[in-house]
Amino acid sequence: MSIFINENVCNGCGQAEETLCERICPGDLLFRNDRHKAEIRSQGDCWTCGACVKACPIQAIDLKLPTQILESDISLRAKCTKRETIWEIRDGNIIKEEFVIPATTGNGVE
Ligand code: SF4
Ligand code: SF4
Repeated sequence: MSIFINENVCNGCGQAEETLCERICPGDLLFRNDRHKAEIRSQGDCWTCGACVKACPIQAIDLKLPTQILESDISLRAKCTKRETIWEIRDGNIIKEEFVIPATTGNGVE
């Protein structure tokens, strides 16, 4: 698996000193590039924990599922609220399914 950062959606977290995805990545893999967009240093070092996918408030990061086992363009996208995380299973731009995981300790979302 890997992540995909949609540069058309990412706003670089505005003027924040550190982006939300940068702050949460346990591998310190994400940074804001000179186009003011999030970028990953190395997909090979990403262990696809999904933390950045959940942390992005505007759903600019997708978790891509391996094409070796799936012939279509399947990805996961997350939307977090205080009470739950809504995960979308997407095939390209089409939402195939949604599942909701209640937050047990809060999602850090205000
Ligand atoms: S958290 Fe989202 S909007 Fe902010 S830099 Fe990362 S991908 Fe872009
Ligand atoms: S999925 Fe996890 S390890 Fe990979 S870039 Fe995002 S936060 Fe970092």
